[in-house]
Amino acid sequence: MTYDENNIFAKILRGEIPCKKIYEDEFVLSFYDINPQKKIHALVIPKGNYIDLDDFASKASEKEIIGLIKGINAVAQKLKISSNTGKGYRALANISENGGQEVPHLHFHLFGGEKVGKMVE
Ligand code: AMP
Repeated sequence: MTYDENNIFAKILRGEIPCKKIYEDEFVLSFYDINPQKKIHALVIPKGNYIDLDDFASKASEKEIIGLIKGINAVAQKLKISSNTGKGYRALANISENGGQEVPHLHFHLFGGEKVGKMVE
């Protein structure tokens, strides 16, 4: 499968579509999900063109991989949901068809601000 340059997150990265930005650095962009499922529902995406976690794991540089993990933590810190606040959150990535992935650009959902409930419904 090839990366679809016209997916909605690619458009957000290019600034063609607005987003409610939370955080940005060299490696990631984070913004609020347009259809929040919990009190806090953030998305964290790598800046590179990767379809999903498997595509990212096989093609991304070590710097990008570290940058994504650090970026998730930076967003959690900024939203005050990281474990060192005593709160915590769920980080989740849907991968491909059985994972229920809708947007074909790798993204992590961060759910928090309340108990997030059962892991799989
Ligand atoms: P997934 O099912 O894991 O691919 O999740 C895609 C997520 O992207 C969903 O939670 C959508 O609500 C969210 N989404 C779709 N379009 C936008 C957008 N323009 N801005 C923010 N979030 C979006």
